[in-house]
Amino acid sequence: MSDADSISWNVMLRSNIYDWEEQQMSDLDALLDQVVAEEGDDLWVWKWSRTCQFLVKTMYVKLRELENRTLTLDRLINMGIALPPVCFMCGMANESTTHLFLHCSKALQLWASLIQSSFIFSNLFGMDSIQEWLVAWPERQGPEITRWIWNLLPVAVIWVIWKNRNDKAFRRVFSFKIR
Ligand SMILES: [Zn+2]
Repeated sequence: MSDADSISWNVMLRSNIYDWEEQQMSDLDALLDQVVAEEGDDLWVWKWSRTCQFLVKTMYVKLRELENRTLTLDRLINMGIALPPVCFMCGMANESTTHLFLHCSKALQLWASLIQSSFIFSNLFGMDSIQEWLVAWPERQGPEITRWIWNLLPVAVIWVIWKNRNDKAFRRVFSFKIR
């Protein structure tokens, strides 16, 4: 709802939130309260750099922070929440950020489908964290748009895995298919 002076958000959730999600909802409310609507064309802003321009370095820093806050099963169990630790995606190993995003069989299928280089793909097995994987992500030659997409690729994969993991965890669906 909006009028000339204010905007308020009516967040509608698909399911009830758990106790451990209340802080995240509170954080979301605080973030939404900061949104200021302005006249003019929409534009992309990368808020984690001073210039508001996307920089890979700032993305790495932000992802490192997010990795430490991602509520995978291992973290929830460490917080004292009684849950089975098994990965929602493969059901074969305990879930951690490294397993879920890098070494899970489902994640590996997705990475393999997108990375043509067996050399780059084989590096994945030696990685101990998402940050390490992102730092090791090679530069690519070619037109600017190609390099830009290439740099965003690992972030997009991580996002897709997280979305699918949550769909699987909370709604028991599995939406990405790998041929
Ligand atoms: Zn797994």
